[in-house]
Amino acid sequence: MSNERAVARSLAAVWHPCTQMKAHERFPLVPIARAKGAWLEDFEGKRILDGVSSWWVNLLGHGHPEIEAAIRDQLGKVSHVMLAGFTHEPVIELSERLARVAPGKLGHVFYASDGASATEIALKMAFHYWANRGKRGKNRFVSLDGGYHGETVGALAVTDVAIFRDAYAPLLRENLRVPFPGEAGAIDALERLLSERHAEIAALIVEPIVQGAAGMRMYSPEYLVRARELCTRYEVLLIADEIMTGFGRTGTLFAWEQAKCEGPDLMCLSKGITGGFLPLSCVLCTDEVYAAFYDDDVARGFLHSHSYTGNALACRAACTVLDILERDGVIAGNRAKAERFTASAGELASHPSVRNFRQRGMIWAFEVDTQAAEFARQAFELALSRGVLLRPIGRTVYFMPPYVIGDREFALLVDAGLAIAGRFGTPS
Ligand SMILES: *Cc1c(COP(=O)(O)O)cnc(C)c1O
Repeated sequence: MSNERAVARSLAAVWHPCTQMKAHERFPLVPIARAKGAWLEDFEGKRILDGVSSWWVNLLGHGHPEIEAAIRDQLGKVSHVMLAGFTHEPVIELSERLARVAPGKLGHVFYASDGASATEIALKMAFHYWANRGKRGKNRFVSLDGGYHGETVGALAVTDVAIFRDAYAPLLRENLRVPFPGEAGAIDALERLLSERHAEIAALIVEPIVQGAAGMRMYSPEYLVRARELCTRYEVLLIADEIMTGFGRTGTLFAWEQAKCEGPDLMCLSKGITGGFLPLSCVLCTDEVYAAFYDDDVARGFLHSHSYTGNALACRAACTVLDILERDGVIAGNRAKAERFTASAGELASHPSVRNFRQRGMIWAFEVDTQAAEFARQAFELALSRGVLLRPIGRTVYFMPPYVIGDREFALLVDAGLAIAGRFGTPS
C-alpha cells in the first residue's frame, strides 16, 4: 500500500477517534507501516520520532523483541479463554506480581481492556462496597478540577475536560469536584466537602501527581498524603487512577509511591501495562474491599464483566513488561536519563515564549505563549514536518517518549519544541 492509498481508504472507511473528520481535508492523516524502538515509519520509509509514546501507551519502544516473543509463545498455548469460571497462567502470574509491586495492600485484581472500563469498574466497586456494608446512600464521587478518567458515560461524569464532556453533559450524573491540588487551599476545600457530605460520597478519584489530559499539570505528592488521611477519616474510598502515570512514567513504578503514605483503596492501570502492545486494564483493590463482596449471596458479588477480561495474550505481554522493568532496572536508569535530558533542554526551558517548563520522570511539558488560534494543530504539523510526533494539548507542548529514547533522539524533540516556540510564540 502507498501512503496516499492508505490515507484515502482510511478516510473513506475509518472513523478516527478524537477527531472532527472534516478537519482532515486540511490536516494530514499519517499512515504508518512499521515501527521500531522510538520510531514510526510510513509506507514510503519516512521515519517519525514517537514523542508521545503513541498516546502514552508505548513504554519500552515499538517492536520490542522480548514482548513480541512472549506474545508469540503465548499464541502457541492459549490466546484467550473466558475468565468467569476459568483461569490461566498469565493472569495468575500478572495478578500475583501486580499485588506484590503495587503500593499499599492491593491484593486482588479485576480485569478489563481499556482505561475507561477500569474507571467504570472502580466507581461501581466503590459504590457497591459501601452498599454491601449497609451504606447505600454513598453514591457520589469526588474528582479534581481538570481530572481525566476516560470517556464512557460513567467515567466522563468524573472527567473535567470541557471538550470531551460538554456535548454529553445531559447524559452525565452530577458529581462533586474539588480544586486542582496545585491551588492554594485545595486540601481545605477537600476537607470541607468530605466533612459536610461524606454520607453521600463513595470515593475520591485522582490522577496521582500528574494530570495528563488536562495538559500535564503536576502537583506535590503532599496532597495525596493529606487526601489519604481525609478519606480514611471520613470513610471515603480513594481511587488512584494510574492509567497514565503507572509503570514508571513519573519516575517511580507507580506515582503514588512518591506520597510515601498508606496506599489507595483502589488503583486503575492500563496504557503502558502491556508496553503498548495489546489492550488491557485492571483495577487493584484492598483485601478489605474484596472481603465486602465475599458472601453466599450472589448479589453481593461484583457481577461486572467484559468479554475480553483477563485476555491471556495481553496478560503475558504485561508479565514480560514487568520482567524487563525489573531485570534491567529501567526506572532507575530512566532517572539518570531524565536528568541528562532536562539539563540538555535549557535553551527550550528559557526560551522567551516558553512558560512553566516542567518535568516528572519521563514527562516534560511547557506552555507556549502564543496568539495562534489553532496552535495545537499547527504545532503538530510543524513537528511532523521535522519528523517528530508531538500532539500538544491546548497551548501545552509535552514530550512523553518511550523509555528507549536516546540522547540524540531527545535532542530532536527539544529542537521541535524550539521550532514551535520560535514560530508561534509571542515573546514578552
Ligand atoms: C487515558 C486515560 C484514561 C482512559 O483510558 P482509555 O484506555 O483511553 O479508555 C483514564 N485515565 C487516565 C488518567 C488516562 O490517562
